[in-house]
Amino acid sequence: MKTITLLGATGSIGQQTLAVIRAHPDQFVIHALAFGRNVELARQFIYEFQPEKVVVQDKETKQKLTAWVSGTKILVGLPGLIEVCTDEAVDLVVNAIIGRIGLEPTLQAIKANKTLAIANKETLVTAGHLVMDAVAKHQVNLLPVDSEHSAIFQCLQGENEQTVKKLIITASGGSFRARTRAQLADVSIEDALQHPNWSMGAKITIDSASMMNKGLEVIEAHWLFGLDYDKIDVILHKESVIHSMVEFQDRSVIAQLGNADMRIPIQYALSYPTRIPLNDADSLDLVSLSQLNFEKMDLERFPCLAMAIEAGKSGGSLPTVLNAANEQAVAMFLNNELSFLGIEDVIEYALARHVKITNPDLETILAIDEETRLIVRDQIKR
Ligand code: NDP
Ligand code: MG
Repeated sequence: MKTITLLGATGSIGQQTLAVIRAHPDQFVIHALAFGRNVELARQFIYEFQPEKVVVQDKETKQKLTAWVSGTKILVGLPGLIEVCTDEAVDLVVNAIIGRIGLEPTLQAIKANKTLAIANKETLVTAGHLVMDAVAKHQVNLLPVDSEHSAIFQCLQGENEQTVKKLIITASGGSFRARTRAQLADVSIEDALQHPNWSMGAKITIDSASMMNKGLEVIEAHWLFGLDYDKIDVILHKESVIHSMVEFQDRSVIAQLGNADMRIPIQYALSYPTRIPLNDADSLDLVSLSQLNFEKMDLERFPCLAMAIEAGKSGGSLPTVLNAANEQAVAMFLNNELSFLGIEDVIEYALARHVKITNPDLETILAIDEETRLIVRDQIKR
């Protein structure tokens, strides 16, 4: 039996994680659930899973929840997140929170020797070196939930990582893959939120449309698998059936395939190192699909991907700036304060004016993150 703390319980990944846990009550038990402000949904999950603790984003949310909950301790904000990630009873922390806010809970969970299933890619982008240093020091398992990274992780099982030639990350192309750049000038929020293959939270759906998501994933792969950027390729694969591949030195390529169902990588991280059944899901039907398509990735069409790879290669504090500028820009796009193409403009602006700091510590990262958000807000208001 694994005892689990789940951060981001009311989100897209969080709800699918609960679906996996619900289907395997003999294997997993919830210790704590953390969420932001969605009290309606959280109430149902608290009733169903009876966690010992819940964490909410702010005092107002705590007040709303208090009337509905008895027997569950309600904590607030970052101190609460850290407490439920480090509690003695916890074996596995699933970090499915969105954004940089997931960084400190992640570091604290690792320091408390917890196994970590990580969906929260922003944490690895903004401070991958700190996370991986802590993982190495505390010898914990850091298990990827993101489908591409789960695919690579699965391809690497039983392999010697020294024999990897390169990683091949696949990209669906997002909501706007069929449009030219000229056709992106006046796209709406609703258009951007229509992902062709995956149903996900709003922020990552916009990141997929801008291709920033793939850029964040390249940086995420660099840290998770310890490979140089020139050993990480991205190709377009519009069916999202091959979730990623590994080419080995002997030119053998191993791929992981499956339907676009996030429960598969989530469950693999939860059940690792074994596999357990996913009963109410369809098998992959290759005959109905009949063909899979691949195209070269066009970095000019998708400048966010190019900027992310550059920021990753350059390293230091640049990925922190990239991530913070993107989080702020996407939030403002979703709030109708910025155009879709404005997202890449402000990220470019923030990166260009930043003076890189090598090997930033946690305090520096948090300060740069804050400062970048301010700069982006200012620039957009202007
Ligand atoms: P959602 O927007 O659907 O969910 C985000 C979750 O985080 C919600 O539970 C939200 O709570 C909670 N949350 C947000 N801010 C705070 C805060 N300050 N304190 C506490 N909780 C907070 O996101 P997704 O599930 O789509 O994505 C989660 C992470 O997983 C992201 O990093 C994303 O990039 C990654 N990911 C997602 C995939 C997907 O298929 N969705 C695929 C691969 C990676 P509430 O809603 O209650 O306010
Ligand atoms: Mg992904």
